Amino acid sequence: MALIVHKYGGTSMGSIERIKNVAKRVAKWHDAGHRIVVVPSAMSGETNRLIGLAKEITPQPDPRELDMIASTGEQVSVGLLSLALQAIGKQAVSYAGWQVPILTDSAYTKARIQSIDDQKVRRDLEDNKIVIITGFQGVDEYGNISTLGRGGSDTSAVAVAAALKADECLIYTDVDGIYTTDPRIVSEARRLSRISFEEMLELASLGSKVLQSRSVEFAGNYRVPTRVLSSLTDPLMDLEQEANSGTLISFEEENMEQAVISGIAFNRDEAKITVLGVPDRPGVAYQILGPVADANIEVDMIIQNQSVDGKTDFTFTVPRGDYDKAVRALNEHVRGHLGEANIVGDNKVSKVSVVGVGMRSHVGVASKMFETLSKEGINILMISTSEIKISVLIDEKYMELAVRALHKAFELENA
Ligand code: ASP
Ligand code: MG
Repeated sequence: MALIVHKYGGTSMGSIERIKNVAKRVAKWHDAGHRIVVVPSAMSGETNRLIGLAKEITPQPDPRELDMIASTGEQVSVGLLSLALQAIGKQAVSYAGWQVPILTDSAYTKARIQSIDDQKVRRDLEDNKIVIITGFQGVDEYGNISTLGRGGSDTSAVAVAAALKADECLIYTDVDGIYTTDPRIVSEARRLSRISFEEMLELASLGSKVLQSRSVEFAGNYRVPTRVLSSLTDPLMDLEQEANSGTLISFEEENMEQAVISGIAFNRDEAKITVLGVPDRPGVAYQILGPVADANIEVDMIIQNQSVDGKTDFTFTVPRGDYDKAVRALNEHVRGHLGEANIVGDNKVSKVSVVGVGMRSHVGVASKMFETLSKEGINILMISTSEIKISVLIDEKYMELAVRALHKAFELENA
């Protein structure tokens, strides 16, 4: 008998029919003798609808009130799932975040979980109940409802699994695992049966949308065995087979598939900004990036050129959606401080990254990547690296070509 947390995303909870299927699947696991806690998302589209309602009243809703509204989607889905389980003869009980409680800080719309009280849940499990806890939401120390940011149910589920020291956290979703790259771009993309936690963290933060990256951090910090698998299979399929499907996020590197590169991530929507002719003296990077940070814009890649005659160029990337705002912030603050510095930009650029723990022990990954791109005539605009990834910024129109060429060059289609 194991203690297992199941997480179901919005698509899996998208209709009464699907909720009934979730109930059948959960009941199957319970029948096999496991103790089960379920953490569902709101029904698909619901969170968008709720946020849309708030924005019909005011374009910039007060974050506390927005969380009050957005959190209700999950409250509906836990109640429905509990009813669906009861309807097929299971004892089930649903809880909102504040009832557990899942304690968070007060950073509304992007709160962080601080602690989870497991007592109530454990008592229910002892009583043979299936416990259903809202994803995405919690409560702060003053009793205000908070939410964890879009896609936050993944983090709720992993955090609940960590608090309960669950044997496994199963993330059921509308894809059947983690792929070497997006199969919509490369049809030969292959599902990985395992991926290391570090690789998963890179992929999640590089734009693979399967898991919220904070959930992967949680899985890593608390060593929660986490598996991504499909909720679209027959809910009554063989349990053993289901338990071994999908992709396991693993903490043991020696068991990894032996490839040097595990996956290729990409982010289409990037923008690049260059400040030309800035004086090369202490404090310049701060003067350029300070106002960008103050405008709440995340900066990703950064390069500063070699200076010539005491002047240099400074280039960085931001999410494309923040491009105009970043240029405005720079124009307002930097010009005054940096004399005749000139701002130029390009908001049609994309980032492509190769990720793999094998890079630590293999040389030549970067040169192979650059050779592959050069053979395709793709110009590299910026490069950044970590111990287990290499990212390049390229013209948006070559992004798919680059992903396909790299997938082939690193032979990712072969297991
Ligand atoms: N319902 C929330 C959202 O749509 C949380 C989640 O689905 O993970 O972002
Ligand atoms: Mg999600």
